[in-house]
Amino acid sequence: MTESSSENSSGTPRPVIGPPDFMKYEARYLEWGREHPDFLYQAHPNSIRSGFARPSTERAGSSPPGGAPPMGPPGRPNPAMLKTMQNLQKGMSQSWEDIEQYYDKPEPSLYEPKPGLWDELYKFVAKKWGDVRIGFTELPRQMIFRDKFTLFRYALVVSQEMNKDKIALAPDFQAGQEVMRVYSSLGMVVNDIARWLRKKGVRCQSNHPMGGLVNTPSLAGKAGMGWQGRSGILVTPEYGPRVRLAPVFVEYKYFEFTDNHDHEWITEYCEQCKICEKECPGQAINSKKVVNVADVPGINTIWTCIDREKCLGPFSRTMGCSVCIKVCPFSQGDNTYERLKGTIEKKTT
Ligand code: SF4
Ligand code: SF4
Repeated sequence: MTESSSENSSGTPRPVIGPPDFMKYEARYLEWGREHPDFLYQAHPNSIRSGFARPSTERAGSSPPGGAPPMGPPGRPNPAMLKTMQNLQKGMSQSWEDIEQYYDKPEPSLYEPKPGLWDELYKFVAKKWGDVRIGFTELPRQMIFRDKFTLFRYALVVSQEMNKDKIALAPDFQAGQEVMRVYSSLGMVVNDIARWLRKKGVRCQSNHPMGGLVNTPSLAGKAGMGWQGRSGILVTPEYGPRVRLAPVFVEYKYFEFTDNHDHEWITEYCEQCKICEKECPGQAINSKKVVNVADVPGINTIWTCIDREKCLGPFSRTMGCSVCIKVCPFSQGDNTYERLKGTIEKKTT
């Protein structure tokens, strides 16, 4: 948070909490973009609407239903959570601040191939950040949130697991704490990857998992990392929906695309499962799917069952709700993915 000072009625100075730094950086990004439209990768006119799971300049001053999100169980402020939230805001600021170097020199660079960089990147990430998954794809403009833009048209998509035992406690505060921990940690991962890539001569832009420029579940689905389930979250083979996602946009196609449709069968499984719909505390998962965006390159239609307004209350009150993640059979990990795939294959043969 940024503090300035004013005086109260008795003349005593008191701190005034201003908007967090990341909001100022984001506002600067949006303003710079309005002045330099030729250098941007803009949202499609029929683009997807933005999500809500983030503070943003557009929401500044508005509170979620039920008031501000808690920082701990009632009556017990949680220092670890406060620290996580500080780190989260720091990571968001850093992702915006790091791209300000492009504001003075927005012209494209000359393309130079980078043989071996993919393997180098994987080794770097595995050594420093452990079990983090990465895909690479071209970003369809329809996946950029309406009225937003990115600096570059290709995307590394990064996923990080949330702890199974903690998510199993949803909607308890401890599950929310795990959600925020991974938002914060993944923010550090993508900022670090972007800084590492820049040292290798790659112009790029990390987008914090709370940075809100693109729809990450559908983007990760296109990159072959899983498929969007009924709850709207990416279902991965390794951890089901128990992951968070964030992209790093890069200027050129330096790597082979990881795109595939191997996980598309999850849609069929969801049709017979619907557990998340039954268990959702906000009745926010509708029975009927509707088209979110049509004609999206590489992925066709993006469907949705989610009523975002109904989800917002439970999500905000518990710092992440996560009931739909907890109850999803795919969240169990181990061999669940293969086992459930087998049930669908049996049905269709
Ligand atoms: S996060 Fe909670 S309220 Fe939102 S869709 Fe999932 S279960 Fe429902
Ligand atoms: S709980 Fe069932 S319906 Fe919901 S996302 Fe998981 S598999 Fe699909």
